[in-house]
Amino acid sequence: GVALVQADRTVDSVCPYCGVGCALTYHVKDNRILHVEGRDGPANQGRLCVKGRYGFDYAHHPHRLTVPLVRREDAPKQAHATLDPARWQEVFREASWDEALTLASSGLRRIRDTQGPRALAGFGSAKGSNEEAYLFQKLVRTGFRSHNVDHCTRLCHASSVAALLEGIGSGAVSNPVRDVALAEFVLVIGANPTVNHPVAASWIKNAVRQGTTLVVADPRRTELSRHAWRTLQFRADTDVALLNAMMHVIVHEGLVDPAFIAARTVGYEDLKANVAAYSPEAMAPVCGIDAGTIREVARAYATARASMILWGMGISQHVHGTDNARCLIALALMTGQIGRPGTGLHPLRGQNNVQGASDAGLIPMMFPDYQRVTDAQARAKFEQLWGVPLDDRPGLTVVEVMDAALRGEVRGMYILGENPAMSDPDANHAREALASLEHLVVQDIFLTETAVLADVVLPASAFPEKTGSFTNTDRLVQLGRQALQPPGQARQDWLILQAMAQGLGLQWHYADIGEVYEEMRQCMPSLAGLSWARLQREGAVVHPCPDEDAPGEAVVFTDHFPTPTGRGRFVPVDIVPAHERPDADYPFVLITGRQLEHWHTGSMTRRSAVLDQLEPDPVASLHPLDLERLGVQPGGVVTLRSRRGEVALYARADDGTPPGAVFVPFCYAEAAINKLTNPALDPVGKIPEFKYCAVSVHAGGAL
Ligand code: SF4
Repeated sequence: GVALVQADRTVDSVCPYCGVGCALTYHVKDNRILHVEGRDGPANQGRLCVKGRYGFDYAHHPHRLTVPLVRREDAPKQAHATLDPARWQEVFREASWDEALTLASSGLRRIRDTQGPRALAGFGSAKGSNEEAYLFQKLVRTGFRSHNVDHCTRLCHASSVAALLEGIGSGAVSNPVRDVALAEFVLVIGANPTVNHPVAASWIKNAVRQGTTLVVADPRRTELSRHAWRTLQFRADTDVALLNAMMHVIVHEGLVDPAFIAARTVGYEDLKANVAAYSPEAMAPVCGIDAGTIREVARAYATARASMILWGMGISQHVHGTDNARCLIALALMTGQIGRPGTGLHPLRGQNNVQGASDAGLIPMMFPDYQRVTDAQARAKFEQLWGVPLDDRPGLTVVEVMDAALRGEVRGMYILGENPAMSDPDANHAREALASLEHLVVQDIFLTETAVLADVVLPASAFPEKTGSFTNTDRLVQLGRQALQPPGQARQDWLILQAMAQGLGLQWHYADIGEVYEEMRQCMPSLAGLSWARLQREGAVVHPCPDEDAPGEAVVFTDHFPTPTGRGRFVPVDIVPAHERPDADYPFVLITGRQLEHWHTGSMTRRSAVLDQLEPDPVASLHPLDLERLGVQPGGVVTLRSRRGEVALYARADDGTPPGAVFVPFCYAEAAINKLTNPALDPVGKIPEFKYCAVSVHAGGAL
């Protein structure tokens, strides 16, 4: 018989991947995770997807960084070189923690003191805990003394958050995912939850089975469409045409909620006037959806007892991403489909802690809890709490930092757990920017494509190696508990941050992570009623949580919006085309995104054995007719070129990808698709246009 290895302990934690925030239990023996089991958490009730269930053994991978590394003096920074992690000695040498921390912090201090605070920047991580995010932004704001701090929220929902703050005063979701069970109608637009939020997709499918009407709107036809009443496979980049046409129908057929508009909103007349020109008949040829279907869907959304909208990066990652989100907000406001169970607006947050990292202030224009750095009162409050004078100018965003580095204005960076060499648009440009820095400190668990360009690499802890709080897409604050010891000399991130802060001259002496949380709670009203002790006791509590003795508020905006007037605001928008349109030289539209089995830049999931076996190779999905025209068999190699770079990948036939488009996940280092993407930014959210640029596709190539 087979001798089963028995775990000697179990640890209750949460999944480290997507924003759904599934609760799980690690089964551990001898400092190794044997397997993972779903646990009965509010977001998942025991369910897990393939990433949560099988994506754990990256923590034990032989590529883990276990000692601090310092760049060899004779190792030039080659922006376009790749490094086999097994040959790290060619570029780095081992160092003691003392030496590495001294080099790391003194390099940053020297740049600050000779070239000024704004010559430094820091990228924190949406994969770290709230406490780590809080410490990181505090280190930049008080140690670097500027607000040049950002993270990958800039690359996913910055435009949604900008529109939400402007329209309804809060960037977080109004209702949890599981409210789909209470909705009569659900619109999922620009999102592929089956792949990116799989357990959320399972709740949506359950709701459909119970009678909820589902509409899926996306340029690609995805698996969730199989469960939809109507699938709107609209032309890429025409979101505003489609959504304005829906609003036109609602206005002109008298389906608005006049009482809600009168009591709770401002600016309706301007919006009404603006959508007058967007009849479904006029917009059908633009967006590719017939007028009758637009009317039908608009009526269903407006007249349902409770309608909910969930969206993803198909909405946000455009130069008109903020406009797209403004339309969704306007739809909810004009119909009163917000502020009740089963209604509202839900931007599906990507990373496990992108909500929490944003809440904790890992953004260049806001302190914790979205208090603006330009607000003198907010600044005074943080100056008092932190005991340091603070800059009154907002900092630079992710892409702006890279541009400033290439101009020689940003000279030193500290990057914790992010991989801009893979995740930034026009990745060659980002790599040149990183390579041009005088001093780069990277804190990570693997020698990522970004870490390869560092002067000092600090070996950090993986998710199961530390305790901290994480906030999911529903605003649910949950406790991730330590299950393993970090390998070798790797350290917990908060301890590294504390040592770096001390190296920058700050007097940080936190005794434990709970003390960090309690300091954070002092400046975040949303957490006022959620003490560290309560979080330990209850494990999961939703914010805003103003009261120690009451549950948090799962559904918000029930009687007012947190805007200065208490009212929601309509913001009319017109069509703005993508920055780079297909032409004779680059005739295809490139759409980037993710895959079920892999996570973002792949540094964790591609080192998880089961996940890597399920999806081992980089693929480009094309319509079968396009493959035939190109003379490429499924599984054959294609080369994609844009004005910024080229990559070769395996072709996959997918009749859900529209003809003339190619879909590529961005998680493969050997075919880093962001070398091709366009860094053009949405002017408000400063988010790059990952969902649309022009490429050419050619048969063959070298992989
Ligand atoms: Fe993890 Fe998201 Fe999958 Fe849940 S749905 S197991 S949180 S990746």
